[in-house]
Amino acid sequence: MTSERTRGTTARTTTADRVVQSVCPYCAVGCGQRVYVKDEKVVQIEGDPDSPISRGRLCPKGSASEQLVNAPGRQTEVLYRAPRATEWQRLDLDTAVDMVTDRFLESRRNGWQDTDDQGRLLRRTMGIASLGGATLDNEENYLIKKLFTAAGAIQIENQARI
Ligand code: SF4
Repeated sequence: MTSERTRGTTARTTTADRVVQSVCPYCAVGCGQRVYVKDEKVVQIEGDPDSPISRGRLCPKGSASEQLVNAPGRQTEVLYRAPRATEWQRLDLDTAVDMVTDRFLESRRNGWQDTDDQGRLLRRTMGIASLGGATLDNEENYLIKKLFTAAGAIQIENQARI
């Protein structure tokens, strides 16, 4: 029998202002999610029955992803600690991406090998490599592989294969 208290409760999914379709960020399965928003704040995340991949299901991690979004300790800014510095500094995302790009290009250039010691063509760089994590999905891995191969890298790997 349902108690008075239980009858008085309302599911967060029924009082949300809107529902947004998304994809679980935790692993490469890419389960579909329905994100319930109230007052511009995520209040609940459920499995999306319309997803052909997961058909409404989420594993315990995916089911708990509302806690990832709303965790008070969640880091939402880029932090940078310069060489030999003892303090972190905040950077805007564009600056951080520019810094990563500069280092990527410099390492690629410094590690470039045009030919081997017998003059055979190599046209590769040993200065950059890619190690992907299991949160990357097929599409992201495809783009990463394409980018790194085009840049001349030969060490391109994913955590899921290790
Ligand atoms: S972590 Fe779980 S819910 Fe999320 S994509 Fe992977 S299997 Fe699906």
